[in-house]
Amino acid sequence: MTERYDVVVVGGGLLGCLTAWMAARDGAHVLLVDKDQVNQHASGQNAGSLHFQLEYRMVEAGEEAARVAAEAMPLHLDAAAMWARMEDEIGEPLGVRQTGGLMVAENSDQVGMLEFKAELERSWGLDVRTLDRTELDDVAPYLSRDIVAANLSALEGKADARIAAPAVGRAAIAAGATVRARSRLVGARRVPTGWEVTLRETDRAGDERARTVQTGAVVLAAGVWTTELGRVFDAELPTVPLALTMTVTSKIPRFIPHLVQHAGARLSLKQSLDNTVLIGGGWPARLMRDAHGAPAFDRKHQLIPQSIAGNARAAVNTVPALERVPAVRSWVGATTVAPDQLPLVGAVKGAPGVFVATGGSAFTLGPSFARVLAGLIAGRSPDIDLAPYDPARFAERSAP
Ligand SMILES: Cc1cc2nc3c(=O)[nH]c(=O)nc-3n(C[C@H](O)[C@H](O)[C@H](O)COP(=O)(O)OP(=O)(O)OC[C@H]3O[C@@H](n4cnc5c(N)ncnc54)[C@H](O)[C@@H]3O)c2cc1C
Repeated sequence: MTERYDVVVVGGGLLGCLTAWMAARDGAHVLLVDKDQVNQHASGQNAGSLHFQLEYRMVEAGEEAARVAAEAMPLHLDAAAMWARMEDEIGEPLGVRQTGGLMVAENSDQVGMLEFKAELERSWGLDVRTLDRTELDDVAPYLSRDIVAANLSALEGKADARIAAPAVGRAAIAAGATVRARSRLVGARRVPTGWEVTLRETDRAGDERARTVQTGAVVLAAGVWTTELGRVFDAELPTVPLALTMTVTSKIPRFIPHLVQHAGARLSLKQSLDNTVLIGGGWPARLMRDAHGAPAFDRKHQLIPQSIAGNARAAVNTVPALERVPAVRSWVGATTVAPDQLPLVGAVKGAPGVFVATGGSAFTLGPSFARVLAGLIAGRSPDIDLAPYDPARFAERSAP
């Protein structure tokens, strides 16, 4: 007999686990599948920053690009509120601390950018304040004397990427969802009740079998695999893949309470609850490609020594005490952004009952993406205007 679900969620990262949890709480019969293990990819490899200010990558391309990126602010505000209550709702620690985030500046150009950015963010409802050097002496004495100002958002902070998605996955199971690892969606066809999807499943001995499942709705929560998965549904879902560098230090007594980002350099750093310091911020790694030049996401991407060194230099220039703290491990994770820095969130055009979310900070924004997706599945009208994030917007722009 064919298995039937209301929703099949494809992807066991944070976004997929959150969507499965929310849809199951709504009473839907949910199956979540992951071709590998829950939290094996970007959601478990990232920096765990909860950043609600516009990031450096969103403002480095100029004011117009920043204005476009700011259109995601309703999702940022929604996510900030959801992270604040998530541990209570999930019933497990997720390492969430929203003790404030600073974006720091070293020169007058960067200060000008911070002031422009703060005004833009405030116009969208994010409470951001620019602190001068005297205020920083009180608030963040660990910063270098070269830092002359910083934008403070009290909502920012961190969560622990190692534990967040698995905890949410357990909550989804407790709410009635079925979760299957080593189950890859490889095919889909329309049926009168929705979709029939084909899953290629691998058991522990490495043997494969095909499983067919019928479902009313499908959620694509597949991170860097979104574009590839979209093709299974004849949908064009363009994303830009990035391989990024992360470094963790050894433990040091707690002295950095904030998420720290830089207004003129690729840098994010924070001290985790285990007292290590996580250093990232967008330094590139080598994305593996196949013989035709297409990204090969199932291969191990490679670290670039210059990126590790550049990232460490940016960290020490900003927080000089880190010079004495040994780095213990660097790694690579792969993630996606959309060409315009806005996420793809919503219904997939031409594939009724199929929904997608990806792009940019889908760890920070995972809760708001998932809330939108669960609402669309349940037929609720979104309370956030989804037009700027329409997954079809690039196809429409390139149409003759
Ligand atoms: C190094 C690094 C640092 C980052 N730092 C931050 C940060 O500090 N803050 C922040 O907000 N964001 C950060 N990001 C981005 C963030 O990690 C991602 O946006 C987010 O984790 C994506 O979550 P996801 O659940 O959508 O995707 P993933 O976590 O990538 O999960 C997708 C899952 O889909 C599965 N899948 C794919 N195709 C199929 C298929 N056909 N069938 C079944 N399963 C499939 C995959 O196996 C995978 O497990 C960072 C990213 C990287 C790489």
